[in-house]
Amino acid sequence: MDSEHTSAVAADVPAAPRDVRRRPPRTDAVLADPRLAAAADRLGRGLVKAAVAGAQERVRAGEIPPHEVAEHAVAALPATASRLRPVINATGVLLHTNLGRAPLSAAACEAVLAAGGTTDVELDLATGLRSRRGRSAVEALLERVPLAEAAHVVNNGAAALALAATALARGKEIVVSRGEMVEIGDGFRLPDLLVSTGARLREVGTTNRTSLADYASAVTPETGFVLKVHPSNFRVTGFTHAVGVADLSRLGVPVVADIGSGLLAPEPVLPDEPDAAGWLRAGACLVTASGDKLLGGPQCGLLLGRADLVRRLARHPLARALRVDKLTLAALEATLRGPATPVHTALHADPGRLRERAEELAARLRRHGLDCRAVRSEAVIGGGGAPGVALPSAAVSVPSSWAGPLRRATPPVVGRVEGGRCLLDLRAVPETADAALADAVRRACPAAAGGRAHGNPDGRPAGRPEREG
Ligand SMILES: *Cc1c(COP(=O)(O)O)cnc(C)c1O
Repeated sequence: MDSEHTSAVAADVPAAPRDVRRRPPRTDAVLADPRLAAAADRLGRGLVKAAVAGAQERVRAGEIPPHEVAEHAVAALPATASRLRPVINATGVLLHTNLGRAPLSAAACEAVLAAGGTTDVELDLATGLRSRRGRSAVEALLERVPLAEAAHVVNNGAAALALAATALARGKEIVVSRGEMVEIGDGFRLPDLLVSTGARLREVGTTNRTSLADYASAVTPETGFVLKVHPSNFRVTGFTHAVGVADLSRLGVPVVADIGSGLLAPEPVLPDEPDAAGWLRAGACLVTASGDKLLGGPQCGLLLGRADLVRRLARHPLARALRVDKLTLAALEATLRGPATPVHTALHADPGRLRERAEELAARLRRHGLDCRAVRSEAVIGGGGAPGVALPSAAVSVPSSWAGPLRRATPPVVGRVEGGRCLLDLRAVPETADAALADAVRRACPAAAGGRAHGNPDGRPAGRPEREG
């Protein structure tokens, strides 16, 4: 026995220090297993050794016999060399910020994979000359929004606003309504972001009411632009008034309009959500948006509008610091040119079909003795879009104590705790994931005698995210 084992056994299992049934095989012997050797080539030695160490630990704990170490190490290998894990989003929040907002379409994932190697992102293969970076993604954007003369892509929605403020209003004033001074989430506030660029804010109106006259009296030669922000994560009702982009565009200064959600054209299911084409038509010079909200693409920020302004932004030194990578450009273009995105599919899901799926899943799980039933549910957009909109949905209701084991299942399933139950809402779950969802529930809660989850159940709600824009 080597000293490593002696000390581990002595420390961990004082009751049976020399029990051969708890003595794991040596690491190098386990690593010689052809499956683990192949995994080391694919995943790197560190991750494979960690899986082996975990299995050896289970032998010392008496959970598995020594000859099964390789078997268990293989089962414990991560799917990829990244610790980011694919998760089933059963929260009923379509764009869950904590779960990476929009899931990419298969077309976008394939494009990302292809672009991961060397790619012609800045080279014209026909001439051999350098070409404009990401040109084909920008072209795809302009095809979808013909009203925009030009477009530019940066890292996220906040970066789009920061670039516009820096290039167009540094040392000048941005006129903005007090009703549109938004916190987008995790403590980040748009007014602070704008001021950090060296622009001054000229606040007008009140929280609930701002008139065109308020804007007009604030516009001076010091004005860089008037900013219109879609309040994408809250609603103000009652005695309210806001000024639309069409009226603002008559003030004689540029109007920059932040739609947030990334809808390029009107979405009938969300009639109150502004879209890029609509606000450009109304007279905005520049529209800013996120790529990973309702557009259903990768995290990025879109700037669409007047050619001269877009050129100033793209040529500004800060643009280089906000530049997107080839993977983002590939995913964005494939999202724009490809088939319907998962977000679009979830948004347009038929409630009757969702109900059928919930009933099928609940019946299947009940056959394994699990405490499951199909229930009505309400899903939301989340991630800073369409506040107050409830989408009729259906869920599999399970005991709230399963929330923890489900999060730790393979694949992890994140539901939401509501009314003392854990709801697995199907609106954001692709139909193709139903079988994996059922398997994960069964594995997390095996035979759950009488509906009790095993392990250390915790009812910590996995529920709605902090509402974030
Ligand atoms: C989401 C949002 C932002 C921030 O966009 P990110 O892509 O998260 O940086 C800014 N403004 C509005 C109106 C938003 O909804």
